[in-house]
Amino acid sequence: MAVKCKRCKTNNAEVYLAHSNLNLCPSCFLLLTERKVKHTIDAYKMLSKDDRIGVAVSGGKDSSSLAYILNSLFEKIDVALIYIDLGVPEYSQHCLEKVETLAKMLDRELIVYSLEREMGFKIGDFKQTIYGRKICSACGTIKRYLFNKIAYDLGLTKIATGHNLDDTVETLFNFYLEGNVEAMLRLKPYLPRTHPKFVPKIKPLIGLTDFECLLYAEYRGLPTRTIECQFSRGSRMQRRKELLNMIAEKIPNFKHSLMNSHFKRILPNLEIALSKHEIKIYECPSCGMPTSLEGMPCHFCKLTKTLRP
Ligand SMILES: [Zn+2]
Ligand SMILES: [Zn+2]
Repeated sequence: MAVKCKRCKTNNAEVYLAHSNLNLCPSCFLLLTERKVKHTIDAYKMLSKDDRIGVAVSGGKDSSSLAYILNSLFEKIDVALIYIDLGVPEYSQHCLEKVETLAKMLDRELIVYSLEREMGFKIGDFKQTIYGRKICSACGTIKRYLFNKIAYDLGLTKIATGHNLDDTVETLFNFYLEGNVEAMLRLKPYLPRTHPKFVPKIKPLIGLTDFECLLYAEYRGLPTRTIECQFSRGSRMQRRKELLNMIAEKIPNFKHSLMNSHFKRILPNLEIALSKHEIKIYECPSCGMPTSLEGMPCHFCKLTKTLRP
């Protein structure tokens, strides 16, 4: 006999969530997923009704789910989608088509920023620089910087990104290995404004696993990319995620516990312990945007300088 959904007790269950030991039917799964996101947004006071949100979309399952959920939970809030075309052959065009379909589906504005058109380079150009072997991290720096700059220039009040639980745990794991306390202090579900040119960032999906985001996008029929970026294949990040999934197979709530312990117990204590060493924010001498580096170009300017001899 088929297993019944634990929530409605009527439909057949199709989804099993090991971390909460729940068998669910698709419609209950969708409902509970949206409630989880709403809960995260409320718990961290991420949004207010006069916010103008820029959702960083990539064509991936996470950001597409995020845009869809924000759009349906907050019909009246101003939501625009922002896509950065990184100029990766085939991939960037493919992703652009997905986000265009998504924007039409949600009837929201899509802002497309082309790296090549605006800045005169493509992400692949870093192949020839000293960042060639760490192209994903260079790409991360570029995207973080540009999403902030675009949102700032447009006068948006929040940037929402699709980082989920797996992303967060992978990042935390890495910070712990490196002992990178400063980076830990900057990794938050809701990063408020710490500088006039810094647009607050929110991560409404941090309570959802990769698997939940994937299923959500599938059940909702959201347009998502079907090809991988040629630069991210076999990346260290992917390998670390696989490793963490192996732990979660033995300890089903491992990721949830690690994240909750970090944000609820460790981070508040870290902040108290380090409150005397206030993290200073400077302005980049070459572009004028905020940076943690004193008296030298920001990471973005440092990166892009390597492209111009
Ligand atoms: Zn059900
Ligand atoms: Zn700069």
